[in-house]
Amino acid sequence: MGRRRKRKITPVRAKKGIPKVFRCPKCDSESLVATLTSTNENGDKEYTLKCGVCGFTQKVVVNKNQQAVDAYNKLVDIIAGLT
Ligand SMILES: [Zn+2]
Repeated sequence: MGRRRKRKITPVRAKKGIPKVFRCPKCDSESLVATLTSTNENGDKEYTLKCGVCGFTQKVVVNKNQQAVDAYNKLVDIIAGLT
């Protein structure tokens, strides 16, 4: 009887380009999707954050080292500054 070697499960890193879902700062639904919409010559990334519930849409530009979550954090700051 051979012993089965347990397979190590390594956490899978989120693939680039897959939309991330965040909590909408407007309606508080977990349906704000961040999609990378463009990248400029400096490597800055423009994310479009759109809520599937209330229809809120905002474009946020982050630098090349930042990700969707950073765009979301920036959005939250923008919203906080507006209210
Ligand atoms: Zn919303």
